[in-house]
Amino acid sequence: MAPRCDGLSDAAMKDLMAQAEKLPISTVVFVVALQAEALPLVDKLELIQDDKPPFPIGMPWIRFYGTYRDLFINVVCPGKDSTLGVDNVGTIPASLVTCASIQGIRPDLIINAGTAGGFKAKGASVGDVFIASSVAFHDRRIPVPVFDLYGVGTRKAFTTPNLVKELSLKVGNLSTGDSMDMSPQDEELIIANDATVKDMEGAAVAHVADLFKVPTIFIKAVTDIVDGEKPTSEEYLQNLPAVTAKLTQSVSQVLDFISGKCLSDL
Ligand code: SAH
Repeated sequence: MAPRCDGLSDAAMKDLMAQAEKLPISTVVFVVALQAEALPLVDKLELIQDDKPPFPIGMPWIRFYGTYRDLFINVVCPGKDSTLGVDNVGTIPASLVTCASIQGIRPDLIINAGTAGGFKAKGASVGDVFIASSVAFHDRRIPVPVFDLYGVGTRKAFTTPNLVKELSLKVGNLSTGDSMDMSPQDEELIIANDATVKDMEGAAVAHVADLFKVPTIFIKAVTDIVDGEKPTSEEYLQNLPAVTAKLTQSVSQVLDFISGKCLSDL
């Protein structure tokens, strides 16, 4: 479990983080938007649902937990919309559940795992699993100096050169927005972000994790090709079960790799 950092100076915080980087990773929080993405992982790792999750009472957020090898694993989901019954996808629910999970679980590492659209022009195919090297937003356009950069909100992911090499995962930039389709303006910014994959949560999780200085990695499996011929939602629904199975497989390989290692070994 990560040390408490409340009230520490910047220098003391850096010191503490440098020490934490040399300890074996113990507590991992997966932030997963859809229950369809989370449940195969929950089954595979034999996690159980927490009936008293460390969240404010009445929130729809869900936590599954258990141990896998020497890791304390948590899978958190933003749950379902209370009126419409669909998964709470997108940046606001992802930010909220990430914030509550960091405060309630104090992870050493956050992994945002999920599905994404991929760009074939950047080398993505359906079923590919990507580790994001950086994340940014493509739907926060603020044409005022410096606010423009704030809107895009580019952040580097925690670098995992050994993990990427060992598991032969693809690497690319991730661009996040609250729409699943892509407007011409979104497209322009996605290109400016040099993104290979596009989702609806990654940069929001990164924003919150950065506030708390929790290292975060992003594992995204491609369900649909954004610059292809097929309509996005059709292709997404058709590929979701098989791609989710691939995501689960990659995530468990990632956990096997992480087990017993420190952050600086990744
Ligand atoms: N489950 C819904 C759709 C969910 S929205 C349905 O049944 O239609 C899509 C989810 O998958 C989001 O969590 C998002 O992060 C990811 N995603 C997959 N393909 C995407 C794309 N092309 N653009 C944006 N997000 C995508």
